Amino acid sequence: MSMQFRSTRSNDSLVSFKDAILQCLPMDGGLYVPASVLDMRQYVLYMDTETSYPELVATVAPALLQGELNPFSAARAAESAFDFEPELKQLDDNFSVLTLCNGPTGVFKDYGIAFLAAVMEELLKNDQQAMILSAARQDTGVSIAHAFSQRKGMISAILYPSGPVRGLDPKSYITNGGNVIPIQIKGTFDDCQRLIIEAINDRPFAERYGITCANAINPGRLLPQVFYYFYAFIKLKKILKGELIFSVPTGNFGNLIAGLYAWKMGMPVNGFIAAMNANNAFGDYIRGKEFKPGKLIQTNSPALDVSVPSNYERLASFYKEAPAVMRNMVFPDTIDNDTTINAMEKAWKDYHILLDPHGAVAFAAARRLSQTAGFNGHVVVLATGHPAKHADLVMQATGQQIDIPEKFSNLWKKTDPMATISPQLDALEGAIASCC
Ligand SMILES: *Cc1c(COP(=O)(O)O)cnc(C)c1O
Repeated sequence: MSMQFRSTRSNDSLVSFKDAILQCLPMDGGLYVPASVLDMRQYVLYMDTETSYPELVATVAPALLQGELNPFSAARAAESAFDFEPELKQLDDNFSVLTLCNGPTGVFKDYGIAFLAAVMEELLKNDQQAMILSAARQDTGVSIAHAFSQRKGMISAILYPSGPVRGLDPKSYITNGGNVIPIQIKGTFDDCQRLIIEAINDRPFAERYGITCANAINPGRLLPQVFYYFYAFIKLKKILKGELIFSVPTGNFGNLIAGLYAWKMGMPVNGFIAAMNANNAFGDYIRGKEFKPGKLIQTNSPALDVSVPSNYERLASFYKEAPAVMRNMVFPDTIDNDTTINAMEKAWKDYHILLDPHGAVAFAAARRLSQTAGFNGHVVVLATGHPAKHADLVMQATGQQIDIPEKFSNLWKKTDPMATISPQLDALEGAIASCC
């Protein structure tokens, strides 16, 4: 049986994976979570270091989505999504780094976005259309435009807050024969996200255009993040002696929650470090207090500057289910700006690896845990961002000249949106109607 999904706010109606990714959000204001998690041990325990990443995805995805995604579709989706792969580098007995910044925009988010686009194309029937709305911050817009470009039956409308739009290729615009509609919203990123939820909840409109969204709240982005945890495990399992811990630089908690699903699916793991910067109000919640969002603080690891994590309800559902287990599964830690810089320096000096500030937050927290009395285990540090994206800071910390890969050179180029509108639903709907 295939995985089914329910809202964080009710157990009543279950939906298929396809319906969950094509609706993105349940109507009751909650978030989709797996209603039950399938046991993947018969796959995870028996793949080994010879297994390639596309092979792993093509094995696990149809097992998770039996009845919805057949092995041929899964292999095709894995192949077309991933022209980049994670890399596990073992540093010594205590540490490894799982590099997740090899994708088109150099952040781990490329993995979830690429798979969502590929699997959506497989699941859409020939006669079905989907319009994928996304709110773009930093390079997410580029990642989305890249993943959805030239996919059958799909149009990708990307909403940008006030300010420059960067990195898009005008040839990909729908007016030039592509499938991208960049729309600038005269407002903030939160306005963009609110408008998307409003458009999804305007059922007649959403149904006419087949509207869904590709933001991190879509369960179709979360699920594929499980695959790289499995990948790290199968690469390491032969050398593991003690505990296995993952250190995850955490902002909206999507990556951490994907790790928790990997554990629920049967991957042997002893815990996760939720490595946060000064925006650490969630640490109190994990330690059993009430969740009170703090004021947003700007740090040198900006992707972790989040005051209310968008995955709050998903995380809370784990804690409601089994608080006594979660206390021993997620270890919150806070890494300040100076410690982040020191961690970059240390990683270079001791291991000759360059980490971006987000990876450095995870590395600093991993080192701290490994120094606690009685710790006997191996920590996998998730390198979620590419050092070239923060070249000045990395150079300052390590003294190294940072090469900027060719593929990033376009990320900073300004482009024009197709429309600029006020932050109101009718304006958004008008812009969409005039394009398609
Ligand atoms: C988004 C992001 C994170 C945070 O991931 P969450 O899933 O939001 O916790 C960490 N590092 C980098 C580089 C990111 O872009």
